[in-house]
Amino acid sequence: MRFVCDEMLKRLGQWLRVAGYDVLILADGSVDRLLVDRARAEHRVLLSSDRKLAEHRDARSLLVLLECQGLDDCVAALNRRMPIDWLHRPFSRCMVCNTPLDDADDEQRRQLPDGARESAHRVCWCPTCRQLFWHGSHVDRMHERLERWHSDAARLHTADFSCGRNAGSTGPA
Ligand SMILES: [Zn+2]
Repeated sequence: MRFVCDEMLKRLGQWLRVAGYDVLILADGSVDRLLVDRARAEHRVLLSSDRKLAEHRDARSLLVLLECQGLDDCVAALNRRMPIDWLHRPFSRCMVCNTPLDDADDEQRRQLPDGARESAHRVCWCPTCRQLFWHGSHVDRMHERLERWHSDAARLHTADFSCGRNAGSTGPA
């Protein structure tokens, strides 16, 4: 599952990247047509909070319209619409530019600030931003957030799945 969103949903898009999803975030002022075309061409789910987009004939099958305010509200709105796995591949992708992260080599690790060198349990490198990302207490807190959203999503979609099973059931086996 891959996504494209506009600048209005930038934070949600960045957090989907944190969870490991491939998310294209188009700059503010991008015309609706461009969003729809990129979604179609690259088989991406189109996330937007712009009602006008729903009027595009080509957008209908691609669009997940999220009417939400703030990050937690948008996450909840998205969770209701589709089964997002917030623990898909956490911290495998750069949240700034969407590039898959590499493990840092020894030379890159030497650029870590002194304090971080001791405490980081994993160090990654974004080849596009040419930046280091290291796992410490900040990442632990981000991970807790992903876990919370993941269990919210699982609760919603497990209920759906079990309804589906019951509906198709022909009685006890
Ligand atoms: Zn990057």
